[in-house]
Amino acid sequence: MNPTIERLIELQRIDDEIRTHRKQREELATNLERLKRILAQMAASLDEKRMRLAESIHWHEDKRIELQADNERINNAKTKLVAVQRTKEYQAMTKELETLRKKFNEDEAELGRLSAVIDETRAAVSAEEAKFAEIQAEVQREDSTSADRLAELDKAIHAVALRKGEVGKNLPKQIVATYERILEKRDGTAVVPVVQGSCTGCKMKLPPQNWVKIQLGKELFQCSTCNRFMYYTVQASQAQMQ
Ligand SMILES: [Zn+2]
Repeated sequence: MNPTIERLIELQRIDDEIRTHRKQREELATNLERLKRILAQMAASLDEKRMRLAESIHWHEDKRIELQADNERINNAKTKLVAVQRTKEYQAMTKELETLRKKFNEDEAELGRLSAVIDETRAAVSAEEAKFAEIQAEVQREDSTSADRLAELDKAIHAVALRKGEVGKNLPKQIVATYERILEKRDGTAVVPVVQGSCTGCKMKLPPQNWVKIQLGKELFQCSTCNRFMYYTVQASQAQMQ
């Protein structure tokens, strides 16, 4: 085979390798971003719950003080009631005492409800804190293994790029420039095998005389439809036909 064709095939192989590495790199980064987003959402939800808990505790304390005051008022009213002589006054005092008792009962019930809310929120906060810690640990683990893997991939990409440079040195500049142009325009594939007389890049059938020449492997051909460089190998043909 013409050495230019061989080198072009090698260039394509190298670019395929680079693409695979880059894809892995992107996947790693995307996954990590996703985990970090989840973590940020959890942190926000946790903050909100903690705030609600603090508010409930605050209300609970207010209510508790109010209940104490209610109790004092009831005791005062009771003392007064004992001292009262006249029926009319007695009736008024009894009514007042009843109102105070009613308020006390209501406040006591509300205090109970607040206690329940506090217990519930506290349980939710600690469950969420545990979950948060778990995800955080996972993110940290992922972060460090990803960092290692990313460094490895960068190194691999660099090494492959160096190899590409070496191969490119042995090709005419014009051909390398054309190769790069097609690579960019045609989704990263600039060199393709011809199978059963058709370009495997765009599926177009070649003129019979070109198909014969390509099989001889002496001249460099570009597809007249997609511009990709074309070559023929028995292996590529067999692989495609299977
Ligand atoms: Zn083509």
